[in-house]
Amino acid sequence: MKYSIKEKIEILRRETNKMFPNAVTELNYKNDFQLLIAIIMSAQTTDKQVNKVNDIFFKTLIKPSDGVKLGVENIEKYINTVSFYKNKSKNIFRTCEILNSKKIPKNIEELIKLPGVGIKTAKVFLSITENAPYLGVDTHVHRVLNRVGIVKTKTANETDKKAEKIIQKKDLTQLHHSLIFFGRYHCIARKPKCLTCPISNICSYNKKEN
Ligand code: SF4
Repeated sequence: MKYSIKEKIEILRRETNKMFPNAVTELNYKNDFQLLIAIIMSAQTTDKQVNKVNDIFFKTLIKPSDGVKLGVENIEKYINTVSFYKNKSKNIFRTCEILNSKKIPKNIEELIKLPGVGIKTAKVFLSITENAPYLGVDTHVHRVLNRVGIVKTKTANETDKKAEKIIQKKDLTQLHHSLIFFGRYHCIARKPKCLTCPISNICSYNKKEN
């Protein structure tokens, strides 16, 4: 049976929601400021590693003024097991300086003016804090949407643009979390669990492999 893109999206939404009904970010944080910093740190780094570092770092970095007091060198000492820690430390420090005198913006245009905050970071942040209708495509979401055949794209950025055009706004926030979990724990990069997959009937990758 051939499925339309619209049907595939609905089945993907329904089944991933059944599998991961309580999917939320796995980053640990106590306030929006810490969440933003954790997302900046998570680029090219696993959430697990970010959490490990932040178990200690976030005892000191609770608000922007704490980061200003620490300075770049001390931030580096806390986060030096995270990839690109030198750049990230500079960005975190400069972001702390800016947020020390104003609130965290709640729109993409203003958020991406903060050092270290790109479109993806801004979308993930707003999706979590505001339930904003963004997919925030990471490597997992990019892989799943391509394997299933909902998009045919080369980069996560392309996937993001395309997916937000074809997926209804009301579904984006739920899919943001459930697709990350689905990609992280089921449709794994190297060994997807196709034999037990509830959406194998709609998946282009599965048909190709078999
Ligand atoms: S059938 Fe395999 S490749 Fe397709 S979505 Fe399921 S786990 Fe991923």
